[in-house]
Amino acid sequence: MVIGLEVHAQVTSHSKLFSGAATEFGAAPNAQVSFVDAGFPGMLPVINEICVEQAVRTGLGLKAQINMVSVFDRKNYFYADLPNGYQISQFTQPIVGKGEILLDMADGTTRMIGITRLHLEQDAGKSMHDQSPNETYVDLNRAGVALMEIVSEPDMRSGEEAGAYLKKLRAIMRYLGTCDGNMEEGSMRCDVNLSMRRVGDPVMGTRCEIKNVNSIRFVQQAIEYESARQVEVLESGGVIKQETRLWDTSKGETRSMRSKEDAHDYRYFPDPDLLPLKLDPAMVAGIKASLPELPDDKKARFISEYGLKPYDASVLVAERASAEFFEKVVKGKNGGRDGKLAANWVTGEFFAALNKQGKTIETSPVSAEALGGLIDLISNDTISGRIAKDVFEEMLATGKDAAAIVDEKGLKQVTDTGAIEKAIDEILAANGDKVAEYKSGKDKLFGFFVGQVMKATGGKVNPAMLNELLKKKLA
Ligand code: ADP
Ligand code: MG
Repeated sequence: MVIGLEVHAQVTSHSKLFSGAATEFGAAPNAQVSFVDAGFPGMLPVINEICVEQAVRTGLGLKAQINMVSVFDRKNYFYADLPNGYQISQFTQPIVGKGEILLDMADGTTRMIGITRLHLEQDAGKSMHDQSPNETYVDLNRAGVALMEIVSEPDMRSGEEAGAYLKKLRAIMRYLGTCDGNMEEGSMRCDVNLSMRRVGDPVMGTRCEIKNVNSIRFVQQAIEYESARQVEVLESGGVIKQETRLWDTSKGETRSMRSKEDAHDYRYFPDPDLLPLKLDPAMVAGIKASLPELPDDKKARFISEYGLKPYDASVLVAERASAEFFEKVVKGKNGGRDGKLAANWVTGEFFAALNKQGKTIETSPVSAEALGGLIDLISNDTISGRIAKDVFEEMLATGKDAAAIVDEKGLKQVTDTGAIEKAIDEILAANGDKVAEYKSGKDKLFGFFVGQVMKATGGKVNPAMLNELLKKKLA
């Protein structure tokens, strides 16, 4: 399977690429349309500096070549929701050239995927077919909004890699603040290009393009369906026609829309209303200097600074908010909590609780400080990891801090040797037959005794001390 993805990412910007009209999502139809966006005669486009900066910032985040001179072209085609009859895009000279994205796969391996280019272009308006039985309405709010089209090399080999690519690209843009990556609102859309070839064949097959798939799950489903379809055609001696297909969510299938246009059909030519775009080197350097720490660097730092496993580190850096939350937990006020323990709690119990309650880190009922407090109680042997889970449940339910709950409920771990020995003695006395069996070689019963003592003491005995004392008694 050979896959290349084209992603349309809406640039985070208050106004459009060539006009001052607003871009906010959810406004009343046609409330955010300037004469430029509506294609009125004589209107001239003026480049939005913020959008240019955002494209450069994204390019730098993708470790890509920034082209100091780029050109805007007209891509000519007719659509009812494209008032000019052409889209202003970039063709032969995009603003960003070759770059790369590192994928973190679930099995801990990584894969490098090439970025072919990133260019700036305008979005079209929206045709609304469901507002009236016999008319189609047009909403031009989206017309002229800045998009970054990010094209990958045909480097992906499975639906899983395509999913990992989209997640990583989205994470990078969110860290950079250049696209909110919200696929449901359409601010990130994906075209999937896919072809099949026999194992070992160096030549790539003919591709089909599946347009505008709007969730990562659908991308993976579309890949599954389309690859099986192409294999069936090829295995029965047919040929794949280069074409554009759509993904039908309800039927779970791809269907042909049209045969694929070649670039010359669009009659691209440089837009005579716009000068070539020349970047100021100082501006590019300024953006470079202001880049935040990106997921890959953060991951590497989490591994070396806190001793995390690569997989845990990649889970934590996948969202900026979770990475920041983890660092707050691990650093605490006095610094220096155990990194692995903190990572386990954040990616384990904490994420599971948020999931269950439908909450995010921003709305979490347990703060980083409170979770850190719980971890301190485990680290200094006040409570066991087992009891900590109950305490955490109580924290979620009541919002109280861990120390208060432990005090109130008397959950403090028993570390008094005498008390533990007494509990052990009672269990051994009540289970004389099992003690005899153990002594005649049935080692497995050790766990049984541990369980009984824990049960009798409400799980509050320090596990390490219990193990040690029990061994002595049974010896
Ligand atoms: P177009 O505008 O015709 O879609 P682009 O260059 O914008 O062309 O995008 C082509 C996409 O198709 C790229 O992501 C590229 O990696 C991918 N691609 C090219 N050839 C193949 C192929 N044989 N199989 C799968 N994907 C391919
Ligand atoms: Mg395409």
